[in-house]
Amino acid sequence: MTDTRPLVVVVTCEHGGNRIPPAFRRWFVGAEALLASHRGYDPGALSMGRALAAAAGTALIATTISRLLVEVNRSPHNARVFSAPMRAAPPDVRRAAFERYYVPHHAAVAQAVQQGLEAGARVLHIGSHSFTPSLDGVVRNTDVGLLYDPRRRREAAFCDAWLAALEARPVGRVRRNYPYVGTSDGLPTLLRRRHAPDDYLGIEIEINQRHPLAGGPPWRRLQREVAAALADALREMPGWRGAATVSRPSAAPGSARRSPAAAPQDGSHAATRAGR
Ligand SMILES: [Zn+2]
Repeated sequence: MTDTRPLVVVVTCEHGGNRIPPAFRRWFVGAEALLASHRGYDPGALSMGRALAAAAGTALIATTISRLLVEVNRSPHNARVFSAPMRAAPPDVRRAAFERYYVPHHAAVAQAVQQGLEAGARVLHIGSHSFTPSLDGVVRNTDVGLLYDPRRRREAAFCDAWLAALEARPVGRVRRNYPYVGTSDGLPTLLRRRHAPDDYLGIEIEINQRHPLAGGPPWRRLQREVAAALADALREMPGWRGAATVSRPSAAPGSARRSPAAAPQDGSHAATRAGR
């Protein structure tokens, strides 16, 4: 079966940092440990996202605002968009955080997807995340998880190819839909509601945070291998025409856009544990 429709890749990072802008800091006094933990951000996800974007020849769309200020990886009416510190703040404070940081990130991602579709392409969206190595006393032995909707055959086929490429490389243990299912509420789930399975593929990669937290050459090597496995998988995808850069909307407040040439960096931070 031939499929000549081009494939465009959009790489995003929703939990890239734990920054609280000055205007909102008074609501986070005493929450420093929470912000530094996996509840505050995804250690390693930003630099992994840069490596994936570079492998796909695209710009990373990222936000480095803490998910505790506003959780951009939820649909807008999910009660968990706001953390306990923000729920203690007045409604206008929550509204300001939502409008300044949630809306622009969603708009930037939606626009990148829309641009690809309007150009006649099929869009593969990859969200870069990381998970805490130990949750509620349970140690998670998986190193890399790929989240997708098993009912969407193009997502399943792409993940088959990426998992096979990962298993051929020294990246440790890989699993499907771990440590979460790809259909739980988040940005890809929101975009799946807007776009047909033939138009939009929503994938999330989850890296075990023990790697970025340990840092050093092994972490840099893991990022290189995972990105190289992505390049391997893309070469097998119908419509993939190489790492051509597509034009993107300008940077939104709270968002960091990276050039395709940005090299993977050691993005580890001295956090306690980390996760979604
Ligand atoms: Zn995350």
